[in-house]
Amino acid sequence: MKFYSTNNTNLRVGFKEAVFNSMPKDKGLYMPVEIPYLGEKFISNLDEYTLPEIAFHIATSLLEGDIPAEDLKKIIYDAINFYAPVVELEKSTYVLELFHGPSLAFKDFGARFMSRVMSYFLAKGEKQLDVLVATSGDTGGAVALGFLGVPNTRVTILYPKGKVSNIQELQLTTNGQNIRALEIDGTFDDCQALVKQAFTDDELNNELRLTSANSINIARLIPQTFYYFNAYAQLLREGINKVIFAVPSGNFGNIGAGLLAWKMGLPVEQFIAATNVNDTVPKFLKTGVYQPKSSVATLSNAMDVGNPSNWVRIADMFKKDTDALKKQITGYAYTDEDTLKAIHEINAEYNYIACPHTAIAWRALRDWKHERNSDNVAGVFLSTAHPCKFPEVFNKNIADKIVIPEHVKALSEKESKAVSLDVDFAGFKKYLLENN
Ligand SMILES: *Cc1c(COP(=O)(O)O)cnc(C)c1O
Repeated sequence: MKFYSTNNTNLRVGFKEAVFNSMPKDKGLYMPVEIPYLGEKFISNLDEYTLPEIAFHIATSLLEGDIPAEDLKKIIYDAINFYAPVVELEKSTYVLELFHGPSLAFKDFGARFMSRVMSYFLAKGEKQLDVLVATSGDTGGAVALGFLGVPNTRVTILYPKGKVSNIQELQLTTNGQNIRALEIDGTFDDCQALVKQAFTDDELNNELRLTSANSINIARLIPQTFYYFNAYAQLLREGINKVIFAVPSGNFGNIGAGLLAWKMGLPVEQFIAATNVNDTVPKFLKTGVYQPKSSVATLSNAMDVGNPSNWVRIADMFKKDTDALKKQITGYAYTDEDTLKAIHEINAEYNYIACPHTAIAWRALRDWKHERNSDNVAGVFLSTAHPCKFPEVFNKNIADKIVIPEHVKALSEKESKAVSLDVDFAGFKKYLLENN
């Protein structure tokens, strides 16, 4: 498959180039030249397939010719080795739990697939790939654990000192092997600025083969389509075939993948884009005016994005047909107060604990159902992270009930190691060069 730039459909590259460059020079995003239709037979028989089987089928339809089937199969079975269950909370309300991977967030799907694809494309004798990533919490853990032990790669994570939760920090600092953590005495934006400057530094680029592995990489988008098909498969087994998805959205990669799945033939009635007060997209869907703005800090901080990068992909899929787009996507935005209320309501009604991002999606689904008076469609909201990653959000009553997975508990027994640096590019550069 060739991939084009959303800014210039004539600019076409192969999958390997799209993966290593992340972003075309014209600053568009890569999209497949053709979105394959997966066919009635596959879709109506989805209930017969497992998650890796579904993933393999989708990946083959997109990447046949780029990676031979046997190799692709190995990548998939190694990357997608955890489950994504659909759990019924009440009649026609389901939660799709995407937090059963190593970092306890849906980003594991993208990071694990991308890391293995990159490693696969690094031919024998090629220079080691140096991944630089700035994180406000979730991305760093998924990328670190995604690349952990992957041959010929090394990851350097920059995180803001004192601004990530305890579990998030342990996920960054206890890995060893090919993962290093840098604790920066500044904010997430400072971390991101250091990484950005590194990519423009000639000396660093001569010494190191740098890549950002960031969330706009097409190799992170593709594996996120897998769990939408797999969720539908699980509902088919219950005799359900009318479904809507409510997606907690920040950079709009997750919902973008859902729309890609829909374009590939997955019959989804509608998508709900659920955001916090960073409501650029819900506003656009209401007013028709797309007005990016600076991000505002909220309790659902993985969605604090004022100018979602993946929106151009979604616009591209609708070829500027705003009416069709508005028909397929509805937007809802909520305050922190709404978020806390939703967390309590979910807990009171279903004895279920949702992370703040997940709670927003549930609330949006409920509001959608009230407005549409629609009970004959299964509403699935996506749970993007395990609540134990955001302990400061919950009151003691709820916090005490959160069951921390064993492999996460074990992290506190491990040696935690981070190098502390100031917000100073010269110091950061010196560290990279001296520790090469
Ligand atoms: C990254 C993240 C999101 C936002 O996902 P996008 O693909 O950027 O829209 C939502 N929830 C959690 C927990 C996340 O880590």
